[in-house]
Amino acid sequence: MKSSTDEGALVLFSGGQDSTTCLAWALDRFARVETLGFDYGQRHRVELDQRVQLRRSIKALKRVWAERLGDDHTLDLSVLGQVSETALTREMSIEVSASSLPNTFVPGRNIVFLTFAAALAYRRGLKHIVGGMCETDYSGYPDCRDDTIKAVQVALNLGMERRFVLETPLMWIDKAATWRLSAELGGNELVELILEESHTCYLGARNHRHPWGYGCGSCPACELRASGFDRFKAERVDMEGGYLSDKFRSKTVR
Ligand code: ZN
Repeated sequence: MKSSTDEGALVLFSGGQDSTTCLAWALDRFARVETLGFDYGQRHRVELDQRVQLRRSIKALKRVWAERLGDDHTLDLSVLGQVSETALTREMSIEVSASSLPNTFVPGRNIVFLTFAAALAYRRGLKHIVGGMCETDYSGYPDCRDDTIKAVQVALNLGMERRFVLETPLMWIDKAATWRLSAELGGNELVELILEESHTCYLGARNHRHPWGYGCGSCPACELRASGFDRFKAERVDMEGGYLSDKFRSKTVR
């Protein structure tokens, strides 16, 4: 475990694989960690439902995490769903538009999220804002780019006269490495917890448990999650002679 600072962090926590990994990452580093979820009129509310369960389960993994995990906040940003016409907020099929962006892109979403997160962090006295944005194997969302996040950080710090640090631990790693990071942070217990309780599927499907977790298995989010998990698992088999091997399990320290 990294030595923690006494500084606090606010984690953008949606209940998906990425934000759950970010939550564990923050709990490993910061003395005080709060979580924030947004309700923006998503077609499926299953991610929001999973948040509560995930917070409860992650506290049970390590005592120090339980001590550090503080309040949960949810903000109603349904206005975002009112202004955007996307496959995440309307009943329409997922496809790639003429601009080569998938129609799951909600314009302005991360900029709005980070701005509200900073307003909340300002009030709560939290310096670090942690998000699961990633440039590596994503769908090309322009608001997930490192430059976008850095520009937003500058704007927030100037406009609020504070020193916020926007942390994006997944920015340069792919989905296999995200699974690896969760194994490093919380051992097999955390990997299992993310498999079982986090939700990534765009269609909100939770009726079938695949080796990589729940989901429809065919939307872009499920495909990304599944292929990342396959690569992670293959790596473990090479390294340890088997995923969930005893050798690996014995390295897990509570
Ligand atoms: Zn799916």
